[in-house]
Amino acid sequence: METTAGISPHAQGATSAPTATDDEQGRAGEARIGHWVAGRARPDAERYGPVHDPATGAVTGRVALASAADVDAAVAAARDAFPAWRATSVSRRVAILFAFHQLLVDHRDEIAAVVSAEHGKVLSDAAGEVARALECVEFACGIGQLLKGGYTEQASSGVDVHEVKQALGVVACITPFNFPAMVPLWMIPNAIACGNTVVLKPSERDPSASLVVARLLQEAGVPDGVVNVVQGDRVAVERLLEHPDVEAVSFVGSTPVARHVYETGTRHGKRVQALGGAKNHMVVLPDADVDVAADAAVSAAYGSAGERCMAVSVLVAVGAVADSLVEAIRERVARLVVGPGSDPASQMGPLITAEHRDRVAARVGTAAEEGATLVVDGREAPDGAGDLGEGFFLHPTLVDHVRPEHTVYREEIFGPVLSVVRAESYDEAVGLVNDNPYGNGAAIFTRDGGAARAFEVDARAGMIGVNVPIPVPVGYYSFGGWKSSLFGDLHVYGPESVQFYTRTKVVTTRWPDPSTAGVDLGFPRTR
Ligand code: NAD
Repeated sequence: METTAGISPHAQGATSAPTATDDEQGRAGEARIGHWVAGRARPDAERYGPVHDPATGAVTGRVALASAADVDAAVAAARDAFPAWRATSVSRRVAILFAFHQLLVDHRDEIAAVVSAEHGKVLSDAAGEVARALECVEFACGIGQLLKGGYTEQASSGVDVHEVKQALGVVACITPFNFPAMVPLWMIPNAIACGNTVVLKPSERDPSASLVVARLLQEAGVPDGVVNVVQGDRVAVERLLEHPDVEAVSFVGSTPVARHVYETGTRHGKRVQALGGAKNHMVVLPDADVDVAADAAVSAAYGSAGERCMAVSVLVAVGAVADSLVEAIRERVARLVVGPGSDPASQMGPLITAEHRDRVAARVGTAAEEGATLVVDGREAPDGAGDLGEGFFLHPTLVDHVRPEHTVYREEIFGPVLSVVRAESYDEAVGLVNDNPYGNGAAIFTRDGGAARAFEVDARAGMIGVNVPIPVPVGYYSFGGWKSSLFGDLHVYGPESVQFYTRTKVVTTRWPDPSTAGVDLGFPRTR
């Protein structure tokens, strides 16, 4: 099959031969990015949306936007595949996951290129996304240990009790643009290892990585229909949320949509985990090493252009450290290289769309109007920066003297903007973390073990870093925030997702001696 520049041959739910001529249907040379249902690419649709190369602003493809009927077809494929997949032995499922792990390793660079071409992040960062996804597959390869239930011999006289964990059925996975390979792989490995079948609805902004994943799963031996992909927008999401054959929904995205997904999905009787947005604070105490803290703040604030749910967006400088820390960050920001993700010299790429870039830039303007100090204003290219053409770029921005009432503090900006809030004391700093409506990650930088331990105990957030700015848990723990960063009870990947993707059944067994049997209308007792 033909390929389009930067798009993997594995992403061949994408074909490069559009038949229609009008703008919405796509022009010659633009990839057609379709669905993947029952093991086959389905490129045709009634509606399409544009996919851009954010580094140039050019439209590189048209993604199918599923109708309710398209979603129904994918759910039907997953429902039909469920009985046989659930009956497939645990050891066979694990063998397939091992093969998939190897394929991911073999295709790591190719996946990174697909991610970078549509998301815009630099290639090394995209490769890091694949590396973290591999951890989740590794965990799922140990599912045999995790699916063991408990057993109690002689719970009552001659009565034994055991517990089994059974698959749910069809699981819908709805994912955001910022990790188009990793977030689907936070969900799919454990969901299918537990015996479920999946309908993935990736972001319509960078849809091709999902098709690479689907093809590699097929190549690894996952039977057709066990993992399906429907491309689309809110039309597809709404249908998944109300579909009677969808048992559970794993969602990752912004807080307003996460709240809606949780409320709508649970109203339709589904089990839902919906991870939302973030406003991650990094607290720097006066005793911290300024260079270490500045390196960490710059890496965590501007990596992936700040489009990470675990990006540091607020730096809380406690006491006298503030001036030297802001200066150390300013120096480092001035040296950052912004450019296309495909250029090995680039450290930071563009934002996902022109609209999002403009929205982030507007918040920078509002910050200045509301009284904060623009130490580095990324709306202007620094001296010596090359011409970045029509790409969706915004240079790194550093805002000092931000206060909690400022718009740039209250909203999730999701761009290369670091806000510095100055606090007098540890108590004031931890108060900021705890009063914030989001509670994904929070970090503290200090050389004082007692202060670090107090922060670990006090901070109201799901993931804490001690001298670690982006404390994303390794794949054998679970990932999730508190407050408006998570709707639902269980975190994604790791042990909590095994709980999410299974139902518990408790079996009570007795093999009675007929000679002692008799009618007894009393409520069964254990003693
Ligand atoms: P988004 O909420 O716009 O989209 C997420 C998914 O929901 C996409 O598949 C999208 O098609 C769908 N969607 C969008 N609007 C919808 C609507 N009105 N109704 C139904 N479905 C809709 O998020 P995004 O812009 O793709 O991703 C960025 C956001 O995701 C940020 O807020 C970021 O913090 C968050 N995020 C959170 C985590 C986490 O683990 N907590 C991880 C990654 C990203």
